[in-house]
Amino acid sequence: MTEIAARMCGNKHRHPSRRQARAHLRSLVGAGQRRELLNVYKCWFCDAWHVGHRPAAALQRSGKTS
Ligand SMILES: [Zn+2]
Repeated sequence: MTEIAARMCGNKHRHPSRRQARAHLRSLVGAGQRRELLNVYKCWFCDAWHVGHRPAAALQRSGKTS
């Protein structure tokens, strides 16, 4: 496995559909994670859906400071 595939995919949970990935995202938010730091994407490596974390730097560029 290449380094970039490990970063995209790694040991993340593989969801067969976007709907299921979004349900997982909601459960993470319910557990206290910040919604704006999470995103759902389709993995080109394993062809499944993953829930990922946005880098905090992306938020800082958008002007949010909290
Ligand atoms: Zn993957």
